[in-house]
Amino acid sequence: MPNLLIVGPPGAGKGTQAVRIAEALGVPAVSTGDIFRQNIKEQTELGQRVSAILDAGEYVPDSLTNELIDDRLAQDDAAGGYLLDGYPRTAGQVEFLDGVNLRRGEELDAVVRLVADTDEVVRRLLARAADQGRSDDTEAVIRHRLEVYERETAPLIAIFAERGLVVEVDGIGAVDEVTERILAGLAARGVAA
Ligand code: ADP
Repeated sequence: MPNLLIVGPPGAGKGTQAVRIAEALGVPAVSTGDIFRQNIKEQTELGQRVSAILDAGEYVPDSLTNELIDDRLAQDDAAGGYLLDGYPRTAGQVEFLDGVNLRRGEELDAVVRLVADTDEVVRRLLARAADQGRSDDTEAVIRHRLEVYERETAPLIAIFAERGLVVEVDGIGAVDEVTERILAGLAARGVAA
C-alpha cells in the first residue's frame, strides 16, 4: 500500500480529497490540522499548547508536530501505508519524514499537488468561516496563513518535484471530479488500490 502526501494552499480542498483518496486506496488519511483541532476541543495538554498558535495562523513548532506524526504513523492502521494531509509543512518536517520512512524501509510513492488560485482559496475559506466558524478562518488570519504557506511550504514542492514524485491536479471543479482526477493521476504513476 502506498505512502502518499497531499499538498496545496489552505482552502485547496486537501482535507476533503484526502479522506476520499485514502478510502479508495485503503490507507488512513492523517491530517495534522484535524489532530490539533481535536486536541484543542478535548482540552488535552497538547491542545492547550497549540490553541493560540492555530488561532494566529502560525505553524506549530516542528518538535511537537514531528513527535505527533511519529506516534501516529507507528499505529497499526498506518503499517501498510498512509496519506498525510498538512504534513510536512516545513523543511525540518520533510527531513523528519525522510527519517521515518528510512526506518520503515520505505519511500514516498507520490505527492499530490492540489492547485487552486488565491482568489478561489480565499473565497472558499471565507465561505467555510461563515459555515463552520473555525477560529482560524477570519479574513486576517486566512491572509496570514496564505503568506506563511507561500513562504514556508510552497518552496518544499520543488524538493518533491526533484524526486519525481509530484502529481499535479487541478483543484477547481466539483468534489467528485477532483477526486477522479487525483485517482487517475495516481493510477498513471502505478499507485492504485
Ligand atoms: P489549512 O489546510 O486550512 O491551512 P489545516 O487544518 O491543515 O488547515 O491546519 C490548521 C493549522 O494547524 C495550521 O494553520 C497550523 O497552525 C497547524 N498545523 C497543521 N499542520 C501543521 C504542520 N505540519 N506544522 C505546523 N503546524 C501545523
